[in-house]
Amino acid sequence: KFITFEGPDGAGKTTVMNNVVSQLVPLLGDRLLVTREPGGNNISEQIRTVILDKKNTDMDPRTEALLYSASRRQHLVKTIIPALEAGKLVLCDRFVDSSVAYQGAGREIGMNEVYQMNQFATEHVLPYKTLYFDIPVTVGLERIAKYRDKDAVDRLDVETQAFHERVHKGYLEIARNNPNRFIMIDARGQSMKLLVKLLI
Ligand code: C5P
Ligand code: MG
Repeated sequence: KFITFEGPDGAGKTTVMNNVVSQLVPLLGDRLLVTREPGGNNISEQIRTVILDKKNTDMDPRTEALLYSASRRQHLVKTIIPALEAGKLVLCDRFVDSSVAYQGAGREIGMNEVYQMNQFATEHVLPYKTLYFDIPVTVGLERIAKYRDKDAVDRLDVETQAFHERVHKGYLEIARNNPNRFIMIDARGQSMKLLVKLLI
């Protein structure tokens, strides 16, 4: 099964994922693959470096979207699909929905255009379920400031509150359009036991 974790900055997605993984490892061992994007293998990680390089201040939004989807494809074909074919449970930190929310809605390329472009990259592979950690923008941004998540603090310097509001709205629209795939979790308080049950 292919399961993704999604949410805006500061939702606590990574923290919850680590917690869930620590409970799943004793149960599943090497029948579990935990991965994140953009990344997961050499080529994908190199593309990630280009995207996240702070020296690249003049990155065009569509270039960024194309790089994310190129990284995603490599990750999907070389890492995710082989694991699924081996019968593993795959948990992935972010996937197509992130691009639709961040590049499509956040950078205002258009959600549908980014979605369509990603269909070329993924050949229509979608997660079986997506755990979506919802958080009001102000709460998410407060959390980042409080816990000093270094990557996230760096991003905060460059992104405006309006950008994060668009990303959040984008996610809510994706959730509305994918009611069977999306599992909406109120990230202000979560039940870890329930999550582990859902996954196995
Ligand atoms: O998952 P994580 O919060 O670590 O993501 C790292 C950063 O990359 C986030 O701050 C998010 O704003 C950004 N990102 C993005 N577009 C994507 C995926 C992530 O801008 N498609
Ligand atoms: Mg994170």
